[in-house]
Amino acid sequence: MADLIRSVRGMNDFLPAQSALWRRIEGAAHACFARYGYGEIRTPILERTELFRRQLGEHTDLVEKEMYTFVDALNGESLTLRPEATVPTMRALLERGVAARGKKQRVYYVGPMFRHERPQQGRYRQFHQIGAEAAGYAGPLADVEQVLMCRRLWEELGIAGKLRLKVNNLGDAEERRSHREALVSYFRDRQDELDEGARRRIETNPLRLLDSKDAQVRAIAEDAPKLEEHLGEESRAIFAEFESGLARQSVACERSHTLVRGLDYYCYAVYEWVFDARGKELTLCGGGRYDGLAGQIGGHPLPGCGFAIGMERLAELVVRATEEEPEQGVAECEVFVVYGKACSGEALALAEALRSAGICAAMDTDPSSFKSMMRKADASGAPCAAILGEDEAAAKEVSVKPLRGQGEQFRIAQDKAAQKLKEMLDSGP
Ligand code: AMP
Repeated sequence: MADLIRSVRGMNDFLPAQSALWRRIEGAAHACFARYGYGEIRTPILERTELFRRQLGEHTDLVEKEMYTFVDALNGESLTLRPEATVPTMRALLERGVAARGKKQRVYYVGPMFRHERPQQGRYRQFHQIGAEAAGYAGPLADVEQVLMCRRLWEELGIAGKLRLKVNNLGDAEERRSHREALVSYFRDRQDELDEGARRRIETNPLRLLDSKDAQVRAIAEDAPKLEEHLGEESRAIFAEFESGLARQSVACERSHTLVRGLDYYCYAVYEWVFDARGKELTLCGGGRYDGLAGQIGGHPLPGCGFAIGMERLAELVVRATEEEPEQGVAECEVFVVYGKACSGEALALAEALRSAGICAAMDTDPSSFKSMMRKADASGAPCAAILGEDEAAAKEVSVKPLRGQGEQFRIAQDKAAQKLKEMLDSGP
């Protein structure tokens, strides 16, 4: 036998039980975001590489190390599997003219993203995000409303108690530039204490030294100039309005000066919803304002804000919070049709009639013994079995056997079975 060709590292398959949980989570997000007037947007998985390179920042980890980039052999174009969806969403809104000057557009998306990270628990190379973007909204009320959207989703999924909100003020582009210059000069003065990688970072992305994993770098970063010291009155006032807006809606948050978000396009209020898992603090959702992004993409200047939630982590939290194991408790069907070998045609017709009545019906399409089919009916988790033996077929009847709870088995005419079963299922266990 040939060796099994396995999936790409860091990329997962979702089997039906897990997909059912994901559908539930996605359904909650669709319903929640629609209530805030957000419509769904779907953009391509592939974009031109330059779109990300320019907007995410040449020297971010994401662009330097993590993008799946390749040359399209058919026309020599450099393409990239999207590592995030804010940039493609803004590209689409600008390109399609829906976020024209002065126009506003609120959209959300659900879908896979790709980053060539070192696979580990909770980090994948294909992962999924649910996110929302408000294009054309100057904030900070729109930012507050997006935090409320997240909080409502957490409440609906029963995980609100597990999450904490961290916020920070990144100021405007000029303030960040002046902070960056101060950082570069501070780290240059101490470069003898840094290793080569950190020294290189001074010139390319000094902000990343602030949340470095290296203890030595972190110790030096402790005394580095703070962005806070470079913020002007206007950006302080905008952020204060964001914070008081949250307080007015009883959203608790903590200020975190080390929260910088990895990407170049953020400004003013940024935030992360975090939770504790396996002794570490993990981020479930990150968001913030990106007023300069549209102009950088090549559109007209357009303010905007948004957030992205990691689906894998969200599903993990939902499972933990509700003790809902994805492998358990999800019935394959509502009625399992069990039949005698000679009645397979009638059984298939019965299953079709049940489906026409809106019932989820399954049967073993590889006929086996009656006993084995009953075992499969039991294992399917279905609340009842519809039995079509030769006896029943001759009388144009069907036996209904409740598989869970107390009910007694009974026989009913085949043409009345769908309606009766529908009533039974609708009235619950
Ligand atoms: P980011 O776009 O980096 O701000 O990420 C937003 C959220 O997406 C994170 O908080 C995670 O929940 C999730 N996420 C980011 N990268 C990965 C990954 N490689 N694997 C799984 N989830 C991820």
